[in-house]
Amino acid sequence: MLNFDTVVPQQQIPLIHIVNEDDELLANSPEAEWYKILRDLPWESYCPIGADYYNALYHFNKSRADRQKEHNSLNEKKDEATQRLLFDRATMDETASVLLDEEFMTEIDPIVLPSMIAPGKTPDRLGGKKPKCFFALFKSFIGVSLMGFESTPEKVHLLLTSNLGFARVCGFIPKGDNDQYWFKYVPSIRKLEQFDQIMTDYGLWDRLKIKEVLENLQQGVIKQEKELVGDTTHYHAYSGFETVTYIDEKGKEKRKSQSKTTKNCRCKDKDNCEHPWQLADDGAGTIVKAHNKYIWGHKASILGFPLQGIPLDAIAVADAATYDGETFFPHVVRLFGQYPEIRSWIQTAIYDSACDSQKIKDKFRDELGIELKASLNPRRKKTMTENLPRGMKKLTPYGNLVCNADFEMDYKGARYQTEKFIYQAPLDANGTCVCDRCEQKQNCCPNASNGRVAEVSFNILPHIDSQDPPMAKRFKAIMTRRPSVERMIKRLKCDLGDDRLKKRSNASFQAYLDKTMIAFHILLRN
Ligand SMILES: [Zn+2]
Repeated sequence: MLNFDTVVPQQQIPLIHIVNEDDELLANSPEAEWYKILRDLPWESYCPIGADYYNALYHFNKSRADRQKEHNSLNEKKDEATQRLLFDRATMDETASVLLDEEFMTEIDPIVLPSMIAPGKTPDRLGGKKPKCFFALFKSFIGVSLMGFESTPEKVHLLLTSNLGFARVCGFIPKGDNDQYWFKYVPSIRKLEQFDQIMTDYGLWDRLKIKEVLENLQQGVIKQEKELVGDTTHYHAYSGFETVTYIDEKGKEKRKSQSKTTKNCRCKDKDNCEHPWQLADDGAGTIVKAHNKYIWGHKASILGFPLQGIPLDAIAVADAATYDGETFFPHVVRLFGQYPEIRSWIQTAIYDSACDSQKIKDKFRDELGIELKASLNPRRKKTMTENLPRGMKKLTPYGNLVCNADFEMDYKGARYQTEKFIYQAPLDANGTCVCDRCEQKQNCCPNASNGRVAEVSFNILPHIDSQDPPMAKRFKAIMTRRPSVERMIKRLKCDLGDDRLKKRSNASFQAYLDKTMIAFHILLRN
């Protein structure tokens, strides 16, 4: 029902108000949260980016002719190109950025202004046919993520054509087979691909992601935390690879998996045409998982707040073959650059054992004033069973001490004068020492009144930092918050998308991450 009291006098009262019954059903369905979010999306706040989309579309159409003329006079052979591309990779070139560092096209004329557009109101000045509405296209891509599918042009097209309620709430009108072009009709796959490409190439997905996170920070939807947690995750690449043989700086022959060398043109004679050789899927690389499992994929670095379980950023790693420990620091630096207020909140950064290195810890402390806590990497140290204090059965590489009666000793602290870690027998459920009724007491600690106290020299556990041992309660308490990042990754990867990519290149992988982040942060507000 329309409420006439709320209509401002100067405003025209809508004469016809069409109500689709199934749309009402969707609006009231708790399962279809996406419907309400898309229907009530505050479009005004998206106008600046919407205007830039139309400007980018204009620039894209105008420069397409120039792009096709672009050549490259390298005259490079395919084998040479493969080697050049190999040595340009971030895992081969030490000066290359570890994280994807995109150069967006930003030199566009501001012809369309934010005030000139609205949902269903597209600018006229672009020449030719009226373009499809930015708001409708944007809602379509984000809506697909909100529904739990991967936000790709194919999936968007499938849902726009098969789910009429979805098409309508985005702002499209279903098109009949013989209907002529009209800007309100559901777009073709090609148009959806073009939208996705423009949003990617001109950095608009990236800007939208930052806008959503900033808004959630400003509105207090994201609350202050003093710890930051990070991890990497992989997505399966939509490409194959070849093994490239090369000579390293020591003159040794080595091999490395690499995406195929190809050209992005449609020439018949690719070996002799003027276009440059490229990687078919730049950024893809071999990712080594536990138990010597290898995955050909793209790698992303994720940062977030552990207590609220909110991912703050997700970024493509320049070369997926990069070791995990190398991505955390540069990513935190980038995050602080984008959201300076977060920098002042953070005291501790948490990561898994890939960052258990004094060098990385020093870097965090010296350059950011942050304490880095990483799970212990025992570096092939084995559990010890000999030369232990009396009555003790084993000492794990993590510094856990277990006695002959199979009780794990409580870690009490370190004595720095004598360079020893101190352990004591635990209490049972009734609060009495487990040694009191232990059969081993006579051989272990006959005279102890408060149970066995054992000491272990620092030099028996040389890989453990005595200033910050992983057995300490504070360390354990902080590390219980680390797996929170794994839940964030699951939400981004499974609940709002798919871990099998449908497109090549790191730029489209980054755009995919941006779209899921946008959906996550819109959902967070609702
Ligand atoms: Zn060519």
